[in-house]
Amino acid sequence: MAFELPKLPYELDALEPHISKTTLEYHYGKHHQAYVSNLNNLLGGTEFENADLDTIVKKSQGGIFNNGAQVWNHTFYFMQFSPSGERTPQGKLADAIKTQYGSFDAFKEEFTKAAATLFGAGWAWLALDKAGKLVIKQESNAGNPLRDGLKPILTCDVWEHAYYLDTQNARPKYLSNFWEILDWNKIGERF
Ligand code: MN
Repeated sequence: MAFELPKLPYELDALEPHISKTTLEYHYGKHHQAYVSNLNNLLGGTEFENADLDTIVKKSQGGIFNNGAQVWNHTFYFMQFSPSGERTPQGKLADAIKTQYGSFDAFKEEFTKAAATLFGAGWAWLALDKAGKLVIKQESNAGNPLRDGLKPILTCDVWEHAYYLDTQNARPKYLSNFWEILDWNKIGERF
């Protein structure tokens, strides 16, 4: 069965002024859609033809991996935002962040640093390791912590297409906007 672009739970202008409608028209409407279309075009006749997306992300290589992981990553990224919602961690995830990083502010600083210093295109991740510890990871290109047996909790897309229309070269400005639209109730459900 072909993969489809997931419907967003908010309107394309709902994240303004932090992420513009124009950025979402391109980032979701064009880039995310292209990864879905490319993946569907690549899958026919391969061992992954009937695989679910998690299996594709964990096991495939080359173009199928690149497009499959980009579908997974973008869906995960877009679904963690909302126009209104809890802007700070709640419940058990809040406790884990406080225990491990000292405070939400200290965590934000460390995660932001990982996103800001990732060279070139990629993703910053918060994930849970097998021992139940939170880890912040940098992944290049389509990288995803599922491949290392980790459970993704939060991600930030630092490909230039995520922010260039809004903040041009200023990745730090995009990163400060990023924290303003996260929905920590949704993120907490992943923990
Ligand atoms: Mn992207």
